[in-house]
Amino acid sequence: MQKQKNVFIQTFGCQMNKLDSELSLGLVRETGYGIATEIGDADIILYNTCSVRAHAEEKVYSHIGALKARKLREPGLIIGVLGCMAQKDGKQVFKRSPHVNLVIGTRMLHKLPDILRSAEECEEHILAVDKDQFFSIPRFVNGHDNGFQNYVSIMRGCDNYCTYCIVPYVRGSEVSRKIDDIYSEVYQLADHGCREVTLLGQNVNSYGKGLDDGSNLARLLQKIGKIDKLERIRFVTSHPKDVTKELLEEMKNNPKICRYLHLPAQSGSDKILQKMNRKYTSKHYKDLVANARKIMPGISISSDFIVGFPGENDADFNETVELLNDVRFFNCFVFKYSPRKGTVASRLKDDIEEKIKKDRNQILLNLQKKISLEENTKLIGSNFDVLVERLNTKTFAPKSTDKPEESFQGNFMGRTKYNHIVIFSGEDSIIGKTVSVKIDNATEFTLYGKQLN
Ligand code: SF4
Repeated sequence: MQKQKNVFIQTFGCQMNKLDSELSLGLVRETGYGIATEIGDADIILYNTCSVRAHAEEKVYSHIGALKARKLREPGLIIGVLGCMAQKDGKQVFKRSPHVNLVIGTRMLHKLPDILRSAEECEEHILAVDKDQFFSIPRFVNGHDNGFQNYVSIMRGCDNYCTYCIVPYVRGSEVSRKIDDIYSEVYQLADHGCREVTLLGQNVNSYGKGLDDGSNLARLLQKIGKIDKLERIRFVTSHPKDVTKELLEEMKNNPKICRYLHLPAQSGSDKILQKMNRKYTSKHYKDLVANARKIMPGISISSDFIVGFPGENDADFNETVELLNDVRFFNCFVFKYSPRKGTVASRLKDDIEEKIKKDRNQILLNLQKKISLEENTKLIGSNFDVLVERLNTKTFAPKSTDKPEESFQGNFMGRTKYNHIVIFSGEDSIIGKTVSVKIDNATEFTLYGKQLN
């Protein structure tokens, strides 16, 4: 009998990639492969890749390069590149790294078991990057799934073509899954112990486009909210131009939906927003946030920003600083602009010096840290329901406050519905459960407290 081959996947990039890797592993396991938890034990090594930044791609190539010697020692070893970089680079991957066996694009992952079987039988390079077809990787809900938190894909692709972004080129056009299929997947997960789902899509607000049954994100959330055993629902990523009043009202009325919106603003300057093809103005963004807060006081709103986009002068950057000061985000992720080949923006002159990009990046990060600390400090003394995610093994030595270090320890880590990370001291085995925690300390990133019940 042939020895069972073990598959190892290393994932780079976003939550969608993490989900694709998880589902791909489930799929290969169902079709007779074993799962290796260490790369050294694997017969098949797959890299699920990201193309959003050049740095992420270089990292993958360096991992592949490090396998060259092992491939010489073990000629039967199968090495594959999956996902966005595979879709973008196609057969270039084989040119640069001839010891790679497979290149599988973003829309062919459901064929992974067949492709692996072919790779076992022939030594030729296999290229599978057809992007015209829609796919959904089946999920096998069984004892292998993470018990209480799961990602669920609701749509794939993006039609927005922000000028800096490679995603529409590598992930293709938007396609939504049928509402009943999503409901039945979430229902099964909840039945097997899942307490929190995060609905994923490149642009979840346009969920339903192309379906002929009137589905949209608000209606999907309403339907999923009726699943008894499910406690919490999250969704990412939202586009500011597509957030509707219906969605905000559904968030308010549906107690299972977390009070958290990740709403990437990217810039506070209308000139830069237009160059980025974001299709909204800074005023639209601020009005949207004000409306969301009016409907749901206390909602956490986080954002992404790109600094140093071509043509961003001091006045444009100051408008971004002003937006941070006005909105007072829960959290911000800040990136220095770097051109991605193939995008519209890559044809613009990358005219902002690296030092200026670095300085602007630091200014936004420092400002956000200050705002987060001020906002988190206001929560000291409050009680929150916390879904306990894991044991906390780290001890923190906060630099931002004068509180004694002992107050910043706790044996569990969990999250509130507002997406705060909470470290707290609790009793017994409570992982996967929701407990009440009284907050007694805060840093810019974390709340600290003690379990009440
Ligand atoms: S909305 Fe814009 S940034 Fe987001 S995936 Fe689509 S093109 Fe990229």
